[in-house]
Amino acid sequence: MVEVGNGVKGLEPGDRVAVYLAIGCGHCSYCLRGYMHLCPQWKCVGFDVDGGDADYMVAPAACCLKLPDGMSYETGALLTDNVGTQYHTQKMLGVSGQDSVAVFGLGPMGSAAALVAKARGARVIAVDVLDSRLQMAKELGVDAIVNSTLQDAVQALRDWTYGEGVDAAIDCSGSPIAQNAALDAARKLGSVAFVGESRSTTINPSDQMIRKLLRVVGGWHFPVWEWEEIARFVIDQNIPVNQYITHRFSIEQADEAFRLFDERVTDKAVFVWE
Ligand SMILES: [Zn+2]
Repeated sequence: MVEVGNGVKGLEPGDRVAVYLAIGCGHCSYCLRGYMHLCPQWKCVGFDVDGGDADYMVAPAACCLKLPDGMSYETGALLTDNVGTQYHTQKMLGVSGQDSVAVFGLGPMGSAAALVAKARGARVIAVDVLDSRLQMAKELGVDAIVNSTLQDAVQALRDWTYGEGVDAAIDCSGSPIAQNAALDAARKLGSVAFVGESRSTTINPSDQMIRKLLRVVGGWHFPVWEWEEIARFVIDQNIPVNQYITHRFSIEQADEAFRLFDERVTDKAVFVWE
């Protein structure tokens, strides 16, 4: 932090911060509860207003999240994104050491899902169509992997859980096939989180949800008050979140970085400053 506006309290030049993505009106019931991304008037940093792909940016004080001592900017950036989303989602699901958790789609969001679920103590199985992503999941510490182009994922998950189905299934792919597999693979009284964005899919509520008493939630970022909790969790559990970064670029390489991102060459890319 280089400069602080008049009247800002609790922040000083020299503080190290990450920036929360959502700027809300500050007055509605969602903003007052810390869910600025649910505010009817919210603006997204980097989309609706200029964001962090620059040497300097201006952010509201309410969006400045202090980094604990020793936490790198790189880690802070991941926590405001995939890791924070997964922390909040898995807290909603109550994922614990008693649980088996299936993660569908092992891009950056799925990688964060695997790391958070392992840190919460769960047994984790990763499902993807790409061996390279499954290999990365193994390196992140998942207990089992399924390539769903070679194996029926639902059957594989049932076999892995003694025929019961998984306690929680988290879809990070947004693929209708995976979304349905998540619903089918979850055990009775289990839960499913949809995190991967998608426009439409067809499900069968009676068989997939109602008659299994399934709990289904949407996962999308985290309330701003949860920041300290997320940061402490990552430090206390010593979660190696930087492990799923595949590419690092300087801001001078932005053209190339965005081109490679568009071409889907990068999984998780970050800009870094010396
Ligand atoms: Zn608001």
